[in-house]
Amino acid sequence: MKLLYCPKCQDLFKLRMHPHTCICGNVKGAYKADGDHAWHNGRGALFGIMNTHFQPLIESSLHSQTIEMFKIDSNSPKVEIIYDKPRIRTKESIQNEQDLGPIDITNGSLRRSAT
Ligand SMILES: [Zn+2]
Repeated sequence: MKLLYCPKCQDLFKLRMHPHTCICGNVKGAYKADGDHAWHNGRGALFGIMNTHFQPLIESSLHSQTIEMFKIDSNSPKVEIIYDKPRIRTKESIQNEQDLGPIDITNGSLRRSAT
């Protein structure tokens, strides 16, 4: 599983087959059609977790365990950087996106509010 992190809003999200953007709009990425290779816009950091590591954690009776996450460098053959223009998100543009719930803009930051 590949995870994309935005250093600006600190959103960390799982890559999907369709492009997904962090909560502030700075970082964007997706899997390519093969479901293995990925692309992102170069403004975030890409990480990986071996999917096979989840099941032992789920089955474990230990209270706390760690899982290994690794950084995937932008020069990896599995990753393509596709630069784009930074997108400015407004309250109106976010509300037009169906994948997000209502938002709350307080203290100059954008947040999804609980529904
Ligand atoms: Zn962001």
